[in-house]
Amino acid sequence: MIRSNGVRDFALAALTLGTFASWAGAQTPATAAQPVMSQTSGPFGDTSTLEREATGWLTDLIKINTTNPPGNEEAAAKYIAAILQKEGIAAEVLPLTPGRSALVARLKSSAFADPSKALLLVAHMDVVGVERAKWTVDPFGAVPKDGYIYGRGAVDDKGMLAANLAAFIALKRANARLNRDVIFLATASEEGHGDASISTVVAKYWDKIAAKYAINEGGNVYVKNGKVQYVAVQASEKVAINVTVTVKGTSGHASIPLKDNPVTHLAAAVEKIGNYAAPVHLTTIVRRYFEGIAPLQDDEISKWIRSIDTPDRGEHAVRVLADANPMWNAMMRDTISPTMLTAGVRANVIPSEATATLNIRLLPGNTITTLLAALNKIVNDPQVKLEVQPDGGLAAPDSSLESDFYAAIVKASAEEFGGAPVLPYQSTWATDSSQLRLHNVQSFGLVPFPLTEEDIKRMHAEDERIPAAAFAKGVKLMARLVGEFAASR
Ligand SMILES: [Zn+2]
Repeated sequence: MIRSNGVRDFALAALTLGTFASWAGAQTPATAAQPVMSQTSGPFGDTSTLEREATGWLTDLIKINTTNPPGNEEAAAKYIAAILQKEGIAAEVLPLTPGRSALVARLKSSAFADPSKALLLVAHMDVVGVERAKWTVDPFGAVPKDGYIYGRGAVDDKGMLAANLAAFIALKRANARLNRDVIFLATASEEGHGDASISTVVAKYWDKIAAKYAINEGGNVYVKNGKVQYVAVQASEKVAINVTVTVKGTSGHASIPLKDNPVTHLAAAVEKIGNYAAPVHLTTIVRRYFEGIAPLQDDEISKWIRSIDTPDRGEHAVRVLADANPMWNAMMRDTISPTMLTAGVRANVIPSEATATLNIRLLPGNTITTLLAALNKIVNDPQVKLEVQPDGGLAAPDSSLESDFYAAIVKASAEEFGGAPVLPYQSTWATDSSQLRLHNVQSFGLVPFPLTEEDIKRMHAEDERIPAAAFAKGVKLMARLVGEFAASR
């Protein structure tokens, strides 16, 4: 329970005085003798101790191997529960499947849980697998090296897990009077979906996580030339769907080639599908994103971004931008990446079947039926069958850019990152946020650590790592954002 004349009154006073910005960023060192709240220390005082503690939690979390599959998130959930218990916060481990659990904890604004204004802090505990031979360090060693912490999950998503935990604990330690419930949620199987994923948490434990707002992974703080170039806040995401391409034909001795060889037909189909460019559709969020990044580009690119909506030059602009940046291409249209091929058992046998897997990412609002119709048309081969795999993603409504939480994210990020532009973003990847948005939660994505393109690309790759200073900065941002939003009115 949080009952003291803390943050809220001070925040209001600070707002009145027009010093709210410096309040949260103040750097006065906290000592035991100092009151938790003072006009110079902000809601959590100097956050450097918190940053150090959070670095320890991140290190420990990396060392708990939660490679999915099998996940084994319960071990991480128990670790977090123990930390929260030390802080006097009761956490609940939510069983999902054997060995796999989520964890939830709540700081209440009143005697009764109130989902109507609640803020949910979300991060997932599982990580993707590693190709150990390609790593220069132990992927589960949390090795500190050259100012980085190396390890699977350092960025995706144990960094945010530890930062959320820090912000949550800071709120409790500040004994702040909350104007909304703040809920900490650690999810499982984000990387693998299925029965242990957030959809089960939503289905089984909704009353424990129901909230109006959420912050999750999904966005990025982009660093270029040593400076934060912009902050991309995910407010929407593309929908992931896998499709199987199957070709059947006559099996036979390879010494006598057959016209219906499934390998030949599959190869031709995959070639056409892989090179297909779906029609461009610029969603509102993508338009806002391009508007925001235009001034940050060189003159040539900036010119084409500004031409994107013009009737005479729009089409050419789209081509230039799609060629300049594969991510921009993927933000403007449905995309198809062929990812797996299976055929054959022996070198001298024509197989009776060949299959391919297509990983499709639909723009929100587009349908797989329309896209498959287009693919069938370009493939134009009755031997080739396209079939949607079960467990596809669901299209969720965008989070509102008019939301007061979005405004709070923009304000805190801009102030924390020296006035860098903060833009809405539609991610090409999927996150747990779609499940939340389907339940009317205004969920936003922000991996809060300032990272270079190179570091961002190491997510899911070898030598994933986070700069220790960037991690600390992200902890500070999350503590500030949560503190300001949970006590701001
Ligand atoms: Zn992730």
